[in-house]
Amino acid sequence: MNDFHEQLMLRLQHQREKNLYRQRRVIDSPQQVELLSDGKALLSFCSNDYLGLANHPDIARAMKRAIDRWGIGSGAAHLITGHTAAHHALEEELAEWLGRERALLFSTGYMANIGAISALMGRGDQLFEDRLNHASLIDGGLASAAAFHRYQHADTEMLDEQLRAFESGNCMVISDGVFSMDGDIAPLPQLATCCEQHDALLMIDDAHGIGVLGEQGRGCCSGYTQQQVPVLMATLGKAFGVFGAFVAGSETLIETLIQDARSWVYTTAPPAAMAEALREALKIVIRDEWRREQLRLLISRFRQGAGQLGLPLMPSETPIQPLVAGDADRALRWSHALEQRGILVTAIRPPTVPQGGARLRITFSATHTAVHVDQLLDALDQIQRRDH
Ligand SMILES: *Cc1c(COP(=O)(O)O)cnc(C)c1O
Repeated sequence: MNDFHEQLMLRLQHQREKNLYRQRRVIDSPQQVELLSDGKALLSFCSNDYLGLANHPDIARAMKRAIDRWGIGSGAAHLITGHTAAHHALEEELAEWLGRERALLFSTGYMANIGAISALMGRGDQLFEDRLNHASLIDGGLASAAAFHRYQHADTEMLDEQLRAFESGNCMVISDGVFSMDGDIAPLPQLATCCEQHDALLMIDDAHGIGVLGEQGRGCCSGYTQQQVPVLMATLGKAFGVFGAFVAGSETLIETLIQDARSWVYTTAPPAAMAEALREALKIVIRDEWRREQLRLLISRFRQGAGQLGLPLMPSETPIQPLVAGDADRALRWSHALEQRGILVTAIRPPTVPQGGARLRITFSATHTAVHVDQLLDALDQIQRRDH
């Protein structure tokens, strides 16, 4: 027992020495671009609340009304007594919006990925994932008994070669839609063609594209049919500003998940009030084109300004605009220096990103203003000058 504790302490010590130790920050305000933490006001550029809905009054009102209507807890799993008309309506509205036959609500994106992948893939099956896929997709692949192959980031030629080796048997290809730490968009046309040619099932995780990209915010798969992208997954805690996730696809796909996705079957349904909040959020996502337009303006202002300052931008057209620092202590130093200037951007370090790829993951929200972007650029300019 003591021995074990000693080992844990050594491990923590090691993480501290390598500048990889992680700590939580306590926030004392609602989730918005101007945050309060430790009695200090901070301008935040690191949440995934891309559309600025996490503290939207209409969604808050919908949730309060729903508590009066439905109470608090769901009391049981969806297959027992937890599945209310509110959950059901949300699923139907999501499916209709995305042009899919059905959608299934999960508690979190992490659970949706673990549940869907391990329900669809088993022993003897072949799974192919982009090397930079989100941890939940990797973990889902490892949790399934399928053989697990990883291809170089966005390298559909390599994927094509890997798939060639398996002309028989079930193959599934999984990719982030928008890569969560880099902000680039997956090569969807090539992925769809490649999967069609090799008769492989394509799954896209659009956690960072849904609400932000595409017509009516349908995400990076907007315009792709259910045949082209048969398994479409997205989260509802980011651009939707609430919590949860879903998988959308055919009747057969969803019925299979209802039978076999263990992280959906063996867990309590989320509160009905959450589903009602999400229904209100969906209306706003569809309606408020100005939020997506504002994001485009902020992104282009930032990229133009950062380019003029010679900052190490990555090729991203999404609200995720990372600045790669390289080693972890440099990323931490940048992050601390920003915080001293009243700006919050947490440093992202390995193992969340590859070794040598520590970075500031800057993200924009529709509730940022041009003045906010200029403040950020100004602070980055000062830090860059001092770092040389
Ligand atoms: C955030 C994220 C998830 C997990 O979603 P949660 O609802 O936060 O559990 C899954 N996939 C990707 C690509 C993500 O960025």
